[in-house]
Amino acid sequence: LNSACEALLSLASPGSLVISPYYRSAPMGDVEQPDYVNAVAGFHTRLPPIELLDALQHIENQQGRLRALRWGPRTLDLDLLLYDDQHIDIPRLVVPHYGMRERSFVLVPLSDIAPELILPDNTPLSSLINKSLKAELVLAQASTVK
Ligand code: ATP
Ligand code: CA
Ligand code: CA
Repeated sequence: LNSACEALLSLASPGSLVISPYYRSAPMGDVEQPDYVNAVAGFHTRLPPIELLDALQHIENQQGRLRALRWGPRTLDLDLLLYDDQHIDIPRLVVPHYGMRERSFVLVPLSDIAPELILPDNTPLSSLINKSLKAELVLAQASTVK
């Protein structure tokens, strides 16, 4: 994750990268696998959405992403959660990310870096967060990338 955040620095406008703390969470789905570590990053970028997705996938591949099963163990997964207030729905890219509203490991770190955020459908992020959601996560450590 630290090296992924380091790589995001090259996509971000200078001084704009903000990274949440890292959280440990139990894996989704039925595949037997270790816990995950998740974080959310926010930044300004000159890249339009598809080029940003290309760049994220390039970082995944550069860091040797390997995975056999959907929702199975993988080395690095970089999802594009939000892009301004845009709604994008093409086969390669759905924004807001389709699963983000149900995933504690997205909502909690997102609210760490953007507590006042209003989602593109006008839902306040804070209305989606509660104690039991937070209890699904264990604070792991801070990012080393500043
Ligand atoms: P999930 O999407 O449930 O988090 P995943 O991240 O494991 O699962 P991947 O195999 O990494 O799924 O991605 C499958 C495809 O999803 C990618 O090839 C990509 O084109 C597409 N995709 C659609 N919307 C997005 C998005 N917002 N961010 C990243 N990838 C996306
Ligand atoms: Ca994902
Ligand atoms: Ca992904």
